[in-house]
Amino acid sequence: MKPPPLGDPPPPASRPGLSTVSVHGRPTTKPDWSPVVAPVVQSSTFVNPVGGEEEVLYTRYGNNPTQLDLARKYALLEGAEDAVFLGSGMAATALAHLAILRPGDHLIASKWIYGGTQKLFDEEFARLGIAVSYADPAQPRQWRRLLRKTTRGIFIETPTNPVMRVLDLGLVAKLAKETGVALIVDATFASPINLRPLEHGADVVITSATKYLNGHSDVIAGAVAGSASVVEEVIRLLRLYGPALDPHAAWLLNRGLKTLAIRMERHNTNGMTVARWADAHPRVQAVHYPGLPGHPDHAIAKDLLDDFGGMVGIQLDGPEAAEKVLRRLKVFMHAPSLAGVESLVSEPRLTSHRHLTAAERADQGIPDGFIRVSCGIEDPDDLVADLDQALNAL
Ligand SMILES: *Cc1c(COP(=O)(O)O)cnc(C)c1O
Repeated sequence: MKPPPLGDPPPPASRPGLSTVSVHGRPTTKPDWSPVVAPVVQSSTFVNPVGGEEEVLYTRYGNNPTQLDLARKYALLEGAEDAVFLGSGMAATALAHLAILRPGDHLIASKWIYGGTQKLFDEEFARLGIAVSYADPAQPRQWRRLLRKTTRGIFIETPTNPVMRVLDLGLVAKLAKETGVALIVDATFASPINLRPLEHGADVVITSATKYLNGHSDVIAGAVAGSASVVEEVIRLLRLYGPALDPHAAWLLNRGLKTLAIRMERHNTNGMTVARWADAHPRVQAVHYPGLPGHPDHAIAKDLLDDFGGMVGIQLDGPEAAEKVLRRLKVFMHAPSLAGVESLVSEPRLTSHRHLTAAERADQGIPDGFIRVSCGIEDPDDLVADLDQALNAL
């Protein structure tokens, strides 16, 4: 099986604004008596024309109309030729890579990635004959140094979890273009409102739609966007491996997506408000937010992102202080995951980074006592007041 050609994304010039796309996709004149909200097509299969040779409609194939509506809308948001939704962010990550890499190929991955993705690379890819090397993005020369004759892909995540580092996408994209290697970007933490990686030279975008795209913490889903040929290959794999998105979940996701742009405005405001407040609080040791001038990637973030998002890392005195604060919070709920309308807080030492020792975590800039805050869309004053009353008990 030959890997698909990558091709360039079409220019986004003719795209309506991102709020309009979030609501309508590409607006069209509707026939009289059309429902304003497209009904969910909750059907696994469809009546075929007798003797017809057209492609069969079947929900596992990803061609159910509810799935297709959603995919077209997302492709337009990313400025991609095409897109496809899958049953989770991990399914999107796995199939996007398998669409590009073959046994014998080599992948360069950033060291700063989601734990599940790293496990996928370490536990599964070696078994499939795909070699993975990890680059330290703090040393940009490593990208080129790790290149092999067999390198077919570079994978990065930006912004990163939980210290919100923002990678220099332009630099990696330039290397990828020069060497004919596919650049795959997981931009879950930004959403297409804050960052559209294809506009900066990426070939494929992955998102955990569980997070900002859906935004209501009630659906697990993922998506891949890119050239028509890459998406076609992901769809081929979807049909074989089978992680299709259920139509009802696709319909809910489409409903969530309608408010994406306006939700992001509030997530962005709340992230900045909480970060500034935390930065001035005497019991906070450090704040990680790319919108703050002291963040190591502030200059890159200002250049690359339209805004800085709702995720904030807050360093407290230690695990006891963190637990004391978490017990007192009322608006923020102590739960993993992120990017929903409700504010959440979690401790990387017990969730994403629990496989590391305390010393290793400290080495990665997240000593115990670090809390990861996902600012929802509540009133900013209430978020600050909640955190403030909890911290003042220390
Ligand atoms: C949550 C997440 C994933 C995995 O998504 P699921 O929908 O939980 O499978 C992948 N990448 C990032 C950056 C995430 O935050």
